[in-house]
Amino acid sequence: MSVDYVDYHVHALGHKGGQYSEELLIPYIHRARGQGIRELGFADHDEYIAGIDEASIASLKTRFTDLNVKLGLEVSYRPGREEEIKAAARRFPFDFLIGSVHDLDSWMFDHPDYRFGYSSWDIAELYRKYYSVLEKLALCGLFDIVGHLDVIKVFGYQPEGDLLPFAEPALQAISRAGLVVEANTAGLHKPCAEIYPSKELLARCFELNIPVTLGSDAHIESEVGRDFAYARELLYQIGYRRLTTFVQRRRGSILL
Ligand code: ZN
Ligand code: FE
Ligand code: ZN
Ligand code: FE
Repeated sequence: MSVDYVDYHVHALGHKGGQYSEELLIPYIHRARGQGIRELGFADHDEYIAGIDEASIASLKTRFTDLNVKLGLEVSYRPGREEEIKAAARRFPFDFLIGSVHDLDSWMFDHPDYRFGYSSWDIAELYRKYYSVLEKLALCGLFDIVGHLDVIKVFGYQPEGDLLPFAEPALQAISRAGLVVEANTAGLHKPCAEIYPSKELLARCFELNIPVTLGSDAHIESEVGRDFAYARELLYQIGYRRLTTFVQRRRGSILL
């Protein structure tokens, strides 16, 4: 059986910035085709929003009809940014918005340069703090997809025992808000060496009727679709049978 994937988390601008052009985006499309991907969603960090070029996306949509090219955005959520985020969402006709937490009180906890910051935290307290911000992200109603849901584990810092109770209030909020969670394979290549969210959290998402989509969080073209066979198998074992898709922020799905 052939499998159709979506990759809804691709950073064509990486962390370099610059500008979208067909020349820049086409290698990602070729890579996606070779990986069995049916929908490719560019979702750069909102700090590089000025680099998005709608005309390049529109042109690629007509040039590559065998693959759905989508335009998304990965927004760094921080309480208080809501108005700024609304303005960003209006700037382009986005198919989807990913909401991600990358910093806590301006500490970029997922960045290797600031890894030393973990030493000043009680890790259980840190997890409560992270998930309280994630809960606010869910409740603000500005996003379609929750990005790398348990990224607080990126460097392998985890409290003792069961992690589900830390995430549970945020998962409840995500479920009530009707948000989609991405299975993000980048975590497999980070020190935590685990998909985001973990199998345990994905299983809880399934129980709470939270739909899923799939993203590689590629920052270079060779990472597009990375470990999707693994992710698919995991989602399938948990019980998922569909991946959520978006057009102009309206939801559809494809068989997993
Ligand atoms: Zn990034
Ligand atoms: Fe991120
Ligand atoms: Zn991200
Ligand atoms: Fe990302």
